[in-house]
Amino acid sequence: MTLKTKSAVVTGSTSGIGLAIAQALARAGANVMLNGFGDPADIEKFRAALAAESGSTIRFHGADVGRAAEVAALISAAETAFGGVDILVNNAGFQFVAPVDEFPADRWDAIQDVILNSAFHAIRAALPGMKRRNWGRIINLVSAHGLVASPFKSAYVAAKHGQIGLTKTVALEVAQCGITCNAICPGYVRTALVEGQIAAQAAAHGLPPEAVLRDVMLAAQPTRRLVEVEEVAALALFLCGDLARSITGAALPIDGGWTAR
Ligand code: NAD
Repeated sequence: MTLKTKSAVVTGSTSGIGLAIAQALARAGANVMLNGFGDPADIEKFRAALAAESGSTIRFHGADVGRAAEVAALISAAETAFGGVDILVNNAGFQFVAPVDEFPADRWDAIQDVILNSAFHAIRAALPGMKRRNWGRIINLVSAHGLVASPFKSAYVAAKHGQIGLTKTVALEVAQCGITCNAICPGYVRTALVEGQIAAQAAAHGLPPEAVLRDVMLAAQPTRRLVEVEEVAALALFLCGDLARSITGAALPIDGGWTAR
């Protein structure tokens, strides 16, 4: 598949799933606006390497997507740099865990801002250009937690369920404009964040990391195997192709069977 004439924004693409999606889109020929936090020197090194390897134009914008004005600035910068945003991947996110009656209100608000509100603001800003060009792909990187809940993750589960509602509504509104909007719902994916959780839980339970992974963290994931970022990126890439033009408003699990229960 070639995306040579397309341009993409991937929020939260300085690590993990977003980084892998940015790589996949760039390797398929799309120009990519990277976004996220991190050490500026590391980000520049990655940006330059991806540009050299892919031959695509790769830029970086450091918007904090938890702030509406910065999301608008991110989309506007990509439109100026590339002449338009054809592919929008709303991927930035983070987790905070606490019982709901002890959940810090500021953490609740921050999770809604970074996960749910940022997706709204980015879609709102990118859609007019997609409608003008009669082509667009919007992918919301959700989670199995957009479909089912786990205790102590109230803010995350609420924001992720909200993203699926947003996905369906946008899909219906733009169904005749050549634009699709879908949610990808991974189970546990091997990222730095999850590797850190494995190490922490191994220490807490006094168990070897493999046992924590299999018996604690992946207890709900029937394959008992972490999803790899490349698997998620391959699904995102497929959704960007013309053969995926009839897939819209979908919440697609890539969760080793978690939500089949
Ligand atoms: P990660 O921590 O590796 O990456 C998160 C990215 O978001 C980073 O680039 C970070 O800098 C960026 N980010 C965080 N807050 C931001 C903000 N306010 N503004 C701009 N960028 C911000 O995480 P990941 O595991 O790759 O997760 C990516 C997405 O996938 C998230 O939405 C997460 O909820 C979802 N997800 C992850 C898993 C998993 O197991 N790792 C499973 C299901 C869903």
